[in-house]
Amino acid sequence: MNPTIAGINELCAELRLNGIMEGYQALADECAKEQLSYCDYLSKLLQMERKTRTERSTTTILKAAKFPKLKPLESFDFASSNVNKIQVQELATLRFIENQENVLFLGPSGVGKTHLACSLGYIAAQRRIKVKFITAADLILQLEAAKSQSKLTYYLSKVIAGSKLLIIDELGYVKFDAQQANLFFQLINKRYETGSIIITTNLSFLKWQEVLNNDEALTTATLDRLIHHSHILNINGDSYRLKQKKEAGILPFNSKLKPRSLNQG
Ligand code: ADP
Ligand code: MG
Repeated sequence: MNPTIAGINELCAELRLNGIMEGYQALADECAKEQLSYCDYLSKLLQMERKTRTERSTTTILKAAKFPKLKPLESFDFASSNVNKIQVQELATLRFIENQENVLFLGPSGVGKTHLACSLGYIAAQRRIKVKFITAADLILQLEAAKSQSKLTYYLSKVIAGSKLLIIDELGYVKFDAQQANLFFQLINKRYETGSIIITTNLSFLKWQEVLNNDEALTTATLDRLIHHSHILNINGDSYRLKQKKEAGILPFNSKLKPRSLNQG
């Protein structure tokens, strides 16, 4: 290998200029052909490095977010949902993250709550905002494990506070015992006015107490902090999955397989 090329490659590796290393030779040929100046070349080279870094950090954030599926907002069919489209579009600006506000998606199963939560998370990740997606059940397991290892403070301040947007999916499917309800409150309290949370739930607020160990004071305190600066989106209607199956003729239109109602938990 030409010693100059070998030297450039070595320096790029040492300085971690992966974008430049991958593209500088092709770009040099291109710029020579177009008779561009050294400064033009350098400018294009630096842009190349920035693009590579942006793409890499987006990929890292997306991996760390652990979305169950990547669901771009464009794939959400607003025509077959009664969710407030304008409200969702406002949320997609991510001003709610800047303002450390919360988002609550309420509604029965299959109406697109997780889809919308992931879509917002995806937009955030593309803008290189750190996101963490977790189901309520897994979150509680992690909180309990951290507590039993005397690492709760570390878990709350590093793992949870490390994400600007925390998405807690499916609150309400698992009821919490006294310790779990308390840990959940601690998490909400710790994040209050310091970071955004998106929660998806099949529960109306009246039913939250049943999940939080029937503890009225704790439920009030939890809801108080969550709702204080929040956007609440109620989504009603039939499960999108069942609707699609009915339309495809797989299920009869008068199918007895009804979606769970909001109050059924
Ligand atoms: P929920 O979290 O409310 O139970 P999901 O978000 O898991 O519902 O939605 C169930 C499935 O239906 C997913 O594959 C989701 O992408 C799809 N879905 C739901 N509503 C819509 C919609 N309005 N447009 C496109 N896909 C939808
Ligand atoms: Mg869901």
